[in-house]
Amino acid sequence: MAKIQKIQGDITADISKSLKGSIAIDTEATGLQIPERDKLSLIQICSEDGQVYIIQPDRKDYKAPNLVSILENDKIQKIGHFLRFDKSGLEFFLKCKIKNIFDTKIASKIVRTYTDAHGLKNLVQEFCNKSLDKRHGSSDWNKDINDLSEKQLEYAANDVIYLHKIKTELEKMLIREKRMDLYLRCIEFLDTRIELDQNGFKFDIFEH
Ligand code: MN
Repeated sequence: MAKIQKIQGDITADISKSLKGSIAIDTEATGLQIPERDKLSLIQICSEDGQVYIIQPDRKDYKAPNLVSILENDKIQKIGHFLRFDKSGLEFFLKCKIKNIFDTKIASKIVRTYTDAHGLKNLVQEFCNKSLDKRHGSSDWNKDINDLSEKQLEYAANDVIYLHKIKTELEKMLIREKRMDLYLRCIEFLDTRIELDQNGFKFDIFEH
């Protein structure tokens, strides 16, 4: 079991100073229609040495300057799975601009051409040889952080603790298959993709 620290509002300045190199990040929300209907409920981050922070932002003003300083710091990479959702939600609610990202889902789709299974569960199975229990994925994340069950906290932590290892493996594959450049240009496009989402263009603009 990972070390988990529950936090209300914002990480402390000491925690933010302790984060170096890269963090894994994931969010939970009241639903998938962010930002027009749903709100950001939880932010999970995991440091390079495996410490997990489960942060419940203040849902009135979403003020979290210490966390924002990490998100905006381009010397600290933010590793996430399907950042199209999390980056959009974090930037909208925390009013920030996330710099330096690695998206394990985009990397997987570009390099793991031998499968069409690109869920986090599939990547954890392949690269970490562990079976993720995704049953608590759909649950009430918006209740008080102290009322979240152990199972919910474990689920929330599981979504970040394997991302560093997965990123390392996908990066090797991208280099081996000579697809790193293509991957990087997809990442460059992500902000435009998110802007399309936020303006109601949820469909694939390139599709016939
Ligand atoms: Mn999650």
